[in-house]
Amino acid sequence: MRYEGTVYRPPSEAYSLIIQATIGCSHNNCSFCSMYKEKSFRIRSVEHILEDLSEARRRYAKVEKVFLADGDALIMRTVDLVTILKGIKELFPECKRVGVYGSPKSILSKNLEELKELRNHGIGIIYLGIESGSDKILKEINKGVTAKDIIEAGRKAKGAEIALSVTLISGLGGKENTKEHAIESAKVISEINPDYLGILTLMIEEGTELKHKIMSGEFSLLTPREVMEEMREFIENTEVQGTIFRSNHASNYINFAGVLSKDKGKILQEINYVLENNSLYKDERFRGL
Ligand code: SF4
Repeated sequence: MRYEGTVYRPPSEAYSLIIQATIGCSHNNCSFCSMYKEKSFRIRSVEHILEDLSEARRRYAKVEKVFLADGDALIMRTVDLVTILKGIKELFPECKRVGVYGSPKSILSKNLEELKELRNHGIGIIYLGIESGSDKILKEINKGVTAKDIIEAGRKAKGAEIALSVTLISGLGGKENTKEHAIESAKVISEINPDYLGILTLMIEEGTELKHKIMSGEFSLLTPREVMEEMREFIENTEVQGTIFRSNHASNYINFAGVLSKDKGKILQEINYVLENNSLYKDERFRGL
Protein backbone atom coordinates (compact mmCIF):
# COMPACT_ATOMS: atom_id res chain seq x y z
CA MET A 1 0.00 0.00 0.00
CA ARG A 2 1.15 3.52 -0.64
CA TYR A 3 0.84 5.96 2.25
CA GLU A 4 1.56 9.67 2.02
CA GLY A 5 2.68 11.64 5.09
CA THR A 6 1.34 11.04 8.58
CA VAL A 7 -1.88 9.03 8.58
CA TYR A 8 -4.43 9.65 11.35
CA ARG A 9 -7.30 7.43 12.43
CA PRO A 10 -9.80 7.37 15.31
CA PRO A 11 -8.74 5.25 18.33
CA SER A 12 -11.49 2.73 17.61
CA GLU A 13 -9.95 2.03 14.18
CA ALA A 14 -6.68 0.82 15.73
CA TYR A 15 -7.00 -2.65 14.17
CA SER A 16 -8.51 -1.58 10.85
CA LEU A 17 -6.95 -1.70 7.44
CA ILE A 18 -6.30 1.95 6.64
CA ILE A 19 -6.50 3.08 3.05
CA GLN A 20 -5.98 6.70 2.01
CA ALA A 21 -8.85 7.61 -0.27
CA THR A 22 -7.99 11.28 -0.01
CA ILE A 23 -4.78 13.02 0.92
CA GLY A 24 -5.11 15.69 3.60
CA CYS A 25 -8.22 17.57 4.68
CA SER A 26 -10.55 19.37 2.26
CA HIS A 27 -10.94 22.22 4.80
CA ASN A 28 -7.46 22.32 6.37
CA ASN A 29 -8.11 25.68 7.98
CA CYS A 30 -8.99 25.13 11.66
CA SER A 31 -6.90 27.40 13.87
CA PHE A 32 -5.88 24.68 16.35
CA CYS A 33 -5.15 21.84 13.92
CA SER A 34 -1.81 20.94 12.38
CA MET A 35 -2.71 17.41 11.28
CA TYR A 36 -2.67 17.89 7.52
CA LYS A 37 -0.80 21.17 7.19
CA GLU A 38 2.00 19.55 5.19
CA LYS A 39 -0.43 18.12 2.63
CA SER A 40 -2.29 19.76 -0.23
CA PHE A 41 -5.72 18.22 -0.39
CA ARG A 42 -6.49 15.90 -3.26
CA ILE A 43 -8.69 12.92 -3.97
CA ARG A 44 -6.79 9.81 -5.01
CA SER A 45 -7.79 7.95 -8.13
CA VAL A 46 -10.19 5.07 -7.64
CA GLU A 47 -7.78 2.91 -9.63
CA HIS A 48 -4.94 3.52 -7.15
CA ILE A 49 -7.21 2.91 -4.18
CA LEU A 50 -8.35 -0.42 -5.63
CA GLU A 51 -4.71 -1.36 -6.27
CA ASP A 52 -3.94 -0.69 -2.61
CA LEU A 53 -6.89 -2.82 -1.55
CA SER A 54 -5.70 -5.69 -3.74
CA GLU A 55 -2.23 -5.45 -2.24
CA ALA A 56 -3.70 -5.50 1.25
CA ARG A 57 -5.63 -8.66 0.35
CA ARG A 58 -2.38 -10.35 -0.63
CA ARG A 59 -0.78 -9.31 2.68
CA TYR A 60 -3.52 -9.84 5.26
CA ALA A 61 -5.43 -13.05 5.88
CA LYS A 62 -8.29 -11.37 7.73
CA VAL A 63 -9.58 -7.78 7.52
CA GLU A 64 -12.69 -7.13 9.57
CA LYS A 65 -12.66 -3.35 9.45
CA VAL A 66 -11.49 -0.83 6.88
CA PHE A 67 -10.97 2.87 7.56
CA LEU A 68 -10.89 5.28 4.65
CA ALA A 69 -8.49 8.13 5.43
CA ASP A 70 -7.45 10.98 5.25
CA GLY A 71 -9.31 13.89 6.78
CA ASP A 72 -12.55 13.84 4.89
CA ALA A 73 -12.88 10.87 2.53
CA LEU A 74 -16.65 11.33 2.49
CA ILE A 75 -16.11 14.33 0.22
CA MET A 76 -15.47 11.93 -2.69
CA ARG A 77 -18.17 11.52 -5.32
CA THR A 78 -20.74 8.97 -4.17
CA VAL A 79 -20.29 6.93 -7.35
CA ASP A 80 -16.54 6.60 -6.65
CA LEU A 81 -17.10 5.71 -3.01
CA VAL A 82 -19.56 3.01 -4.09
CA THR A 83 -16.97 1.57 -6.49
CA ILE A 84 -14.44 1.45 -3.63
CA LEU A 85 -16.98 -0.10 -1.25
CA LYS A 86 -17.86 -2.76 -3.83
CA GLY A 87 -14.13 -3.48 -4.19
CA ILE A 88 -13.83 -3.87 -0.42
CA LYS A 89 -16.79 -6.26 -0.31
CA GLU A 90 -15.41 -8.34 -3.16
CA LEU A 91 -11.84 -8.52 -1.83
CA PHE A 92 -12.70 -8.76 1.87
CA PRO A 93 -16.00 -10.64 2.26
CA GLU A 94 -15.16 -10.94 5.99
CA CYS A 95 -15.15 -7.12 6.41
CA LYS A 96 -17.85 -6.07 8.88
CA ARG A 97 -17.56 -2.29 8.70
CA VAL A 98 -16.05 0.55 6.73
CA GLY A 99 -15.42 3.78 8.66
CA VAL A 100 -14.74 7.25 7.37
CA TYR A 101 -14.11 10.77 8.63
CA GLY A 102 -16.87 13.12 7.51
CA SER A 103 -17.27 16.85 7.85
CA PRO A 104 -20.58 18.71 8.10
CA LYS A 105 -19.99 19.94 4.55
CA SER A 106 -19.29 16.51 3.08
CA ILE A 107 -22.32 14.97 4.80
CA LEU A 108 -24.55 17.82 3.66
CA SER A 109 -23.20 17.57 0.11
CA LYS A 110 -24.91 14.18 -0.16
CA ASN A 111 -28.64 13.62 -0.19
CA LEU A 112 -30.24 11.09 2.14
CA GLU A 113 -30.53 8.50 -0.62
CA GLU A 114 -26.80 8.73 -1.34
CA LEU A 115 -25.96 8.26 2.34
CA LYS A 116 -28.28 5.25 2.49
CA GLU A 117 -26.60 3.85 -0.63
CA LEU A 118 -23.21 4.23 1.07
CA ARG A 119 -24.57 2.48 4.16
CA ASN A 120 -25.94 -0.36 2.02
CA HIS A 121 -22.52 -0.82 0.45
CA GLY A 122 -20.71 -0.98 3.78
CA ILE A 123 -20.16 2.45 5.36
CA GLY A 124 -20.96 1.61 8.97
CA ILE A 125 -19.70 4.63 10.85
CA ILE A 126 -18.95 8.30 10.21
CA TYR A 127 -16.57 10.16 12.53
CA LEU A 128 -17.54 13.81 12.73
CA GLY A 129 -15.35 16.39 14.47
CA ILE A 130 -17.78 18.94 15.89
CA GLU A 131 -15.21 20.65 18.15
CA SER A 132 -17.75 23.12 19.62
CA GLY A 133 -21.45 23.84 19.39
CA SER A 134 -20.93 27.58 19.78
CA ASP A 135 -21.19 29.68 16.61
CA LYS A 136 -18.88 32.23 18.20
CA ILE A 137 -16.16 29.63 18.83
CA LEU A 138 -16.71 27.88 15.48
CA LYS A 139 -16.07 31.22 13.81
CA GLU A 140 -12.99 31.93 15.90
CA ILE A 141 -11.45 28.55 15.06
CA ASN A 142 -12.25 28.92 11.31
CA LYS A 143 -14.32 25.74 11.29
CA GLY A 144 -16.23 27.03 8.29
CA VAL A 145 -19.64 25.81 9.49
CA THR A 146 -22.31 26.85 11.97
CA ALA A 147 -23.97 24.91 14.77
CA LYS A 148 -27.05 24.65 12.54
CA ASP A 149 -24.98 22.98 9.79
CA ILE A 150 -23.52 20.55 12.31
CA ILE A 151 -26.93 19.59 13.69
CA GLU A 152 -28.32 19.10 10.18
CA ALA A 153 -25.33 16.97 9.14
CA GLY A 154 -25.44 14.85 12.30
CA ARG A 155 -29.15 14.20 11.96
CA LYS A 156 -28.76 13.36 8.30
CA ALA A 157 -26.11 10.72 9.00
CA LYS A 158 -28.35 9.24 11.68
CA GLY A 159 -31.34 9.44 9.32
CA ALA A 160 -29.37 7.24 6.92
CA GLU A 161 -28.89 4.80 9.81
CA ILE A 162 -25.12 5.17 9.75
CA ALA A 163 -23.54 5.10 13.22
CA LEU A 164 -22.32 8.55 14.15
CA SER A 165 -19.31 9.20 16.34
CA VAL A 166 -18.69 12.85 17.22
CA THR A 167 -15.94 14.66 19.07
CA LEU A 168 -15.76 17.88 21.04
CA ILE A 169 -12.65 19.61 22.35
CA SER A 170 -12.59 20.81 25.97
CA GLY A 171 -11.05 24.22 26.44
CA LEU A 172 -11.50 25.31 22.83
CA GLY A 173 -13.20 28.55 23.87
CA GLY A 174 -10.41 29.46 26.28
CA LYS A 175 -11.17 31.14 29.61
CA GLU A 176 -13.35 33.79 28.05
CA ASN A 177 -15.81 31.42 26.37
CA THR A 178 -15.73 28.33 28.57
CA LYS A 179 -19.37 28.63 29.67
CA GLU A 180 -20.53 29.39 26.14
CA HIS A 181 -18.60 26.36 24.87
CA ALA A 182 -20.16 24.03 27.45
CA ILE A 183 -23.75 25.23 27.09
CA GLU A 184 -23.85 25.56 23.29
CA SER A 185 -22.05 22.25 22.77
CA ALA A 186 -24.56 20.57 25.09
CA LYS A 187 -27.40 21.97 22.95
CA VAL A 188 -25.88 20.65 19.69
CA ILE A 189 -25.16 17.20 21.13
CA SER A 190 -28.68 17.02 22.60
CA GLU A 191 -30.14 17.89 19.18
CA ILE A 192 -28.10 15.26 17.35
CA ASN A 193 -28.15 12.45 19.93
CA PRO A 194 -25.05 10.77 18.44
CA ASP A 195 -24.27 7.09 18.93
CA TYR A 196 -20.82 7.91 20.30
CA LEU A 197 -19.44 11.06 21.87
CA GLY A 198 -15.78 11.62 22.62
CA ILE A 199 -14.37 14.62 24.42
CA LEU A 200 -10.74 15.48 23.83
CA THR A 201 -8.84 18.22 25.61
CA LEU A 202 -7.20 21.03 23.69
CA MET A 203 -3.52 20.43 22.88
CA ILE A 204 -1.49 23.24 21.41
CA GLU A 205 0.34 22.40 18.23
CA GLU A 206 3.41 24.26 16.99
CA GLY A 207 2.88 26.56 14.03
CA THR A 208 -0.89 26.86 14.41
CA GLU A 209 -2.84 30.09 14.47
CA LEU A 210 -4.03 29.24 17.97
CA LYS A 211 -0.46 28.94 19.23
CA HIS A 212 0.21 32.45 17.92
CA LYS A 213 -2.90 33.73 19.70
CA ILE A 214 -1.68 32.24 22.97
CA MET A 215 1.77 33.79 22.51
CA SER A 216 0.21 37.19 21.84
CA GLY A 217 -2.13 36.92 24.82
CA GLU A 218 -5.29 36.80 22.68
CA PHE A 219 -6.25 33.32 23.97
CA SER A 220 -5.96 31.93 27.50
CA LEU A 221 -5.78 28.20 28.07
CA LEU A 222 -7.92 26.60 30.77
CA THR A 223 -6.30 25.04 33.81
CA PRO A 224 -7.06 21.33 34.39
CA ARG A 225 -9.58 22.38 37.05
CA GLU A 226 -11.32 24.73 34.63
CA VAL A 227 -11.46 21.91 32.07
CA MET A 228 -13.27 19.79 34.69
CA GLU A 229 -15.69 22.60 35.48
CA GLU A 230 -16.42 23.02 31.79
CA MET A 231 -16.98 19.27 31.44
CA ARG A 232 -19.40 19.32 34.40
CA GLU A 233 -21.38 22.18 32.89
CA PHE A 234 -21.51 20.33 29.56
CA ILE A 235 -22.65 17.01 31.05
CA GLU A 236 -25.25 18.69 33.26
CA ASN A 237 -26.82 20.37 30.24
CA THR A 238 -26.70 17.45 27.80
CA GLU A 239 -29.89 15.45 27.29
CA VAL A 240 -29.37 12.38 25.12
CA GLN A 241 -30.47 8.76 25.13
CA GLY A 242 -28.07 5.86 24.74
CA THR A 243 -25.04 7.88 23.64
CA ILE A 244 -21.83 6.07 24.49
CA PHE A 245 -19.59 8.68 26.09
CA ARG A 246 -15.82 8.50 26.31
CA SER A 247 -13.35 11.03 27.57
CA ASN A 248 -10.35 8.74 27.65
CA HIS A 249 -8.15 10.19 24.96
CA ALA A 250 -4.42 10.71 25.48
CA SER A 251 -5.07 14.45 25.63
CA ASN A 252 -7.48 14.25 28.58
CA TYR A 253 -6.46 15.11 32.16
CA ILE A 254 -8.89 12.56 33.61
CA ASN A 255 -10.71 9.65 31.96
CA PHE A 256 -14.47 9.24 32.12
CA ALA A 257 -16.77 6.79 30.37
CA GLY A 258 -20.39 5.75 30.45
CA VAL A 259 -23.68 5.73 28.64
CA LEU A 260 -25.50 9.04 28.64
CA SER A 261 -28.04 9.47 30.11
CA LYS A 262 -27.96 6.22 32.14
CA ASP A 263 -24.59 7.06 33.73
CA LYS A 264 -24.95 10.83 33.82
CA GLY A 265 -25.23 10.94 37.64
CA LYS A 266 -22.21 8.67 38.09
CA ILE A 267 -20.07 10.73 35.71
CA LEU A 268 -21.08 13.96 37.47
CA GLN A 269 -20.20 12.39 40.83
CA GLU A 270 -16.78 11.41 39.47
CA ILE A 271 -16.20 14.93 38.16
CA ASN A 272 -17.20 16.41 41.52
CA TYR A 273 -14.81 14.02 43.28
CA VAL A 274 -11.98 15.19 41.04
CA LEU A 275 -12.87 18.83 41.69
CA GLU A 276 -13.03 18.29 45.46
CA ASN A 277 -9.63 16.59 45.53
CA ASN A 278 -8.10 18.79 42.85
CA SER A 279 -4.94 16.71 42.51
CA LEU A 280 -5.77 13.76 40.28
CA TYR A 281 -5.00 15.33 36.93
CA LYS A 282 -2.64 13.71 34.46
CA ASP A 283 0.71 15.44 34.45
CA GLU A 284 1.09 17.78 31.47
CA ARG A 285 4.16 15.77 30.36
CA PHE A 286 2.03 12.66 29.85
CA ARG A 287 -0.65 14.27 27.75
CA GLY A 288 -0.11 13.50 24.10
CA LEU A 289 -1.69 12.62 20.80
S1 SF4 B 1 -9.81 19.89 12.61
FE1 SF4 B 1 -10.57 18.49 11.03
S2 SF4 B 1 -11.62 19.87 9.58
FE2 SF4 B 1 -10.29 21.16 10.81
S3 SF4 B 1 -8.40 21.32 9.65
FE3 SF4 B 1 -8.11 19.64 11.11
S4 SF4 B 1 -8.71 17.80 9.99
FE4 SF4 B 1 -9.49 19.56 8.83
